[in-house]
Amino acid sequence: MVPVIGITMSVEVGNGAEETDKKELIVSREHSDAIISAGGLPYFLPFTTDPKIIEQYTQHLDGLLLTGGWDLDPYYYGEEPQQGLLEIAPSRDESEIALTKSFLQTGKPILGICRGHQVLAVVLGCTLYQDLDRQYKNGLDHRPKIPRNRPMHSIQITEGSILHGIYGQTTGRVNSMHHQAVKDLSESVMVTATSNDGVIEAIESKIYPNLLGVQFHPECMAETDPQAQRIFNWLVEQSGKIKQQKKQEQILY
Ligand code: MN
Repeated sequence: MVPVIGITMSVEVGNGAEETDKKELIVSREHSDAIISAGGLPYFLPFTTDPKIIEQYTQHLDGLLLTGGWDLDPYYYGEEPQQGLLEIAPSRDESEIALTKSFLQTGKPILGICRGHQVLAVVLGCTLYQDLDRQYKNGLDHRPKIPRNRPMHSIQITEGSILHGIYGQTTGRVNSMHHQAVKDLSESVMVTATSNDGVIEAIESKIYPNLLGVQFHPECMAETDPQAQRIFNWLVEQSGKIKQQKKQEQILY
């Protein structure tokens, strides 16, 4: 069996849409395309906070992909809402945080993209800039109006990091579609890429070896940019490796 990768989904928000008539779960197919190209078997994940269902997903999936989307409720990093905070999706927050916490206990690989990278950061004890324009003056434009698949700004990658292994070099160019970013780091989290204005563009963990968060959107570039596709290859390959190891060790979760 090829590695099974769970992909989180989003929901419409605004004007109470999440709580009223628009309950469709949505996600860009770019994610599943990239996982299939990497040789993985993608599954889209519904929202749930049911501990038994979360436990089953944690057992059955070999890897987890936390996708981009709406702002995380600042409550989860101990802040009141500031000017510039945009829409939040409370049921998505609850579901992803519960699943991420459960998944972390297994050592199975997790890739977080944009919001997913921020979910990882917050679960690991970091805080976020609620709005870069207001709270990070004189930074680059991290939300330029250009095509989603176009590399927009450079990143500097830390030597020896997972991302360095993926890129094979200490610089890269990435797209950028975010108005928030990781602010204060917790002790267990390390920065493994920054843009030239110092904004955190990737994180990894000092404790969990198979964890990568990227602030950019490799799914939009995977078709045209081999380095972006290699991020998904890493998730699938690493998920396969850990699956094999667990089989050999006969560890049951
Ligand atoms: Mn950026």
